[in-house]
Amino acid sequence: MSAHIIDGKQIASQLLEDIKANIDQRVQAGKRAPCLAVILLGDDPASAIYVRNKRLACEKTGIVSIAHNLPASTSQEELFALIRQLNADDTTDGILVQSPLPHHIDETEILALIDPAKDVDGFHPYNIGRLAVRQPLLRSCTPYGVIKMLQASGIALKGLDAVVVGVSNHVGRPMGLELLLAGCTVTSCHRHTKDLATHIGRADLIVAAAGKAGLIKGEWIKPGAIVVDIGINRLPDGKITGDVDFAVASQRASHITPVPGGVGPMTVATLMENTLKALELREQASSARV
Ligand code: NAD
Repeated sequence: MSAHIIDGKQIASQLLEDIKANIDQRVQAGKRAPCLAVILLGDDPASAIYVRNKRLACEKTGIVSIAHNLPASTSQEELFALIRQLNADDTTDGILVQSPLPHHIDETEILALIDPAKDVDGFHPYNIGRLAVRQPLLRSCTPYGVIKMLQASGIALKGLDAVVVGVSNHVGRPMGLELLLAGCTVTSCHRHTKDLATHIGRADLIVAAAGKAGLIKGEWIKPGAIVVDIGINRLPDGKITGDVDFAVASQRASHITPVPGGVGPMTVATLMENTLKALELREQASSARV
């Protein structure tokens, strides 16, 4: 069997077009376009690429993006002050702080300071909590992107035995919550899991988010399973690869996502969707006030 390769780039591109159409309509009706503030500290090359991709997606959709490129030496207090200012600015709809942050900055405190209504990454404990209680508002971009990608591929999730590998706050954990919300029976595996191969071997759907190249062996995959690879790993030769042994897994799975060109573009597209949604939610909230 040879798996259907899920084209995340194409699905994301369609989503960006839909968002653009929505924003064009707003602007034609005299409303303003959404505005995303992107904060980047230092000059990490991978972060610079991610930020550039997000800026390009803003350009494609008509979202105004405002870059705050700060030196790596920026103090936590200075970053706090900027976030407070953006929280208070009515024309800023989304605030994104690109990770990783320099070691002297406490990322947890920074993310907690962002107004949850402008938390377009969906990382704030309030937004993760909303997802946990089945009332999602701004959803973590990568897990939400995975769900949208599976839905666009016509995959019915209800009742599937899903295994998520990785339980980080930003990726694996909200991924498990998304799949639970979608009606899957979810198992979360992590670095202390005793027998990863057995869990993988009985899964209908595997979502890999460990950041370990080759961790998921192709022969572990149950024939016909769906495989989503979130991992992004740079090999010594500079190539990018996922967590799953793609060559063998793609001979056993029914559907599989490639790396690159799978989940990555969906993450950027759902960020755009969240930015538009953040504006709409704040407009609704302000029109409901008397
Ligand atoms: P992380 O390091 O914070 O978390 C890794 C998780 O993997 C942990 O929960 C850990 O317990 C688990 N893990 C590690 N080794 C394991 C093992 N041997 N067996 C089972 N579980 C193991 O990383 P993260 O921020 O969650 O990111 C995970 C991966 O996803 C990275 O490669 C990252 O680059 C990638 N990522 C991709 C996108 C995208 O858009 N495609 C977005 C975010 C992150």
